[in-house]
Amino acid sequence: MSQLGEQLRDPLRELYQEVIIDHARNPRNFGTVSNVTHHAEGFNPLCGDQLSLEVEIENNKIKDAKFKGTGCAISTASASLMTQFLKDKNVGEAEQIVKEFIDMLTQSPKIEHPNLGKLTVLAGVHDYPARVKCATLAWHTLDAALKREAKIASTE
Ligand code: ZN
Repeated sequence: MSQLGEQLRDPLRELYQEVIIDHARNPRNFGTVSNVTHHAEGFNPLCGDQLSLEVEIENNKIKDAKFKGTGCAISTASASLMTQFLKDKNVGEAEQIVKEFIDMLTQSPKIEHPNLGKLTVLAGVHDYPARVKCATLAWHTLDAALKREAKIASTE
């Protein structure tokens, strides 16, 4: 209990909101996808976060997305929230959300981001520059996974 009390007085309390702590402790979609169509590896040397992302896209729709790896609470929570949020979105929507999420963390955390829904719990990370790369790692990795496939497709 005393530990929790200290945590609540901590100036970082806004950063470690309940939803973030929950997703960091019990990450959703941790594992591998059975029919991988897109995948990429991500690494954040600043913090040591690394993750491997697997995605199954069928009929231009994200059917499944899972990740594995080791990282801090912020990077794990962000990957967990991302994979949950993007399920059943089409590729165009996913690309737009990636752009908007990264923009929220790097440019404009204060403006409203209605498309981001629950993901806005991570907006506070903007105030902690050392943590921004932790929060955006999964998103850059997804971006790489989606682009890699597009590149292959264009050569065919
Ligand atoms: Zn980190």
